Amino acid sequence: MLDEKLQPIFDDVLRRNPGEDEFHQAVREVLDSLGAVVAKHPHYAEDALIERICEPERQIIFRVPWVDDKGQVQINRGFRVQFNSALGPFKGGLRFHPTVYLGTIKFLGFEQTFKNALTGMPIGGGKGGADFDPKGRSSGEIMRFCQSFMTELCRHLGEYTDVPAGDIGVGQREIGYMFGQYKRIANRYESGVLTGKGLAWGGSQVRTEATGYGAVYFVERMLRTRNHNFDGKKVIVSGSGNVAIYTMEKIMELGGKVIACSDSNGYVVDESGIDLALLKEIKEKKRGRVSDYAKARRSSHFVSNGRIWDVPADVAMPSATQNELNGQDARTLVKNRIVAVGEGANMPCTPEAVKIFLDAGVMFGPGKATNAGGVATSALEMQQNASRDSWTFEATEARLATIMHGIHDRCAEMADTYGSPGNYVLGANVAGFIRVAEAMRALGIV
Ligand code: GLU
Repeated sequence: MLDEKLQPIFDDVLRRNPGEDEFHQAVREVLDSLGAVVAKHPHYAEDALIERICEPERQIIFRVPWVDDKGQVQINRGFRVQFNSALGPFKGGLRFHPTVYLGTIKFLGFEQTFKNALTGMPIGGGKGGADFDPKGRSSGEIMRFCQSFMTELCRHLGEYTDVPAGDIGVGQREIGYMFGQYKRIANRYESGVLTGKGLAWGGSQVRTEATGYGAVYFVERMLRTRNHNFDGKKVIVSGSGNVAIYTMEKIMELGGKVIACSDSNGYVVDESGIDLALLKEIKEKKRGRVSDYAKARRSSHFVSNGRIWDVPADVAMPSATQNELNGQDARTLVKNRIVAVGEGANMPCTPEAVKIFLDAGVMFGPGKATNAGGVATSALEMQQNASRDSWTFEATEARLATIMHGIHDRCAEMADTYGSPGNYVLGANVAGFIRVAEAMRALGIV
């Protein structure tokens, strides 16, 4: 049950955003954590502050027409939800995936607001994307789509206004096409308008690796609180995109063994440890599938319909997409004596799964804390762009590690202060909320 002050706010969110299940889920989780905060500090429930936090500042929906390789005109729907700019310009990625609709972008923008606040950096929250399916599209089609998408989006962006980056389906190639189109329309080399850029044209060292590396730094610090570490641990990392690949890389560096990963067609198990060079070759160079990995590696096998969470392991890092790990999966992991779960993706565990982990005493790192290293490094990219500087890999990675340790410690401290020691979900929601709320109070009713 929600706190009596918070229930009407949630009812209103349901009424105003019909059918947007993921958004409801994300709001519900944050409100669940805020009961203890409004009980202790009733002023946070005044001036409709929480209602304002749940309502995006601006939502943009637009037509994206483009011409495919056969000369056919295609139409997609583009979105940008500028959720909250109390702490800085709207900041958050763009997702290109056929399932994207307003509810997806709203949930991601809401999460992003608290995530960005947790980093301690001057960035507000936003998210965007399109229901475009990049799978099987030629590079020319991707470019034409990105150009058309940016032709509308550009009027809403700016280094002090809104700074997008990548997310599912959007990597350095797409950011390049979008930056090129922005530059052409604006007639300005405004590096700070997008992050995730290539190193040769304004990007930052470590940005590619940052979400995965950061997630592992967070989980490592969490493991340490109970005298564990990655050394010798068996790990499942779902997904095989940018987040998953660099999560695996850092786990291996710390002595862990990644034994399974996946894509939307199925998962691969490799008890001798995933061969990362091979996986990178298949995924990053050939844009292939994990089934191609299984064909190329004898110690592995591919499972096309089944649950990756059935594979016994010590640590699980869901790094694919929202709601990919449900209550039944969580029960299986607990039965197989999982020690820790760290969310690399945004909201990959269902509320039921999260509850099962917390009740079972499994260490659980929620996405908005665990995966904040990506956007934090985007903020470092913005810093470098603003000062026309570029830092070394080592210096940038050291900053990332410090930021992740800071996020971990802030979440742990808030969980203690608000009466749920070890509950990083509560800690992350409360720490993120308080930072946004304080700025909003200072800025008046806007
Ligand atoms: N899409 C990433 C996230 O979920 C990164 C956003 C960014 O760098 O702006 O946090």
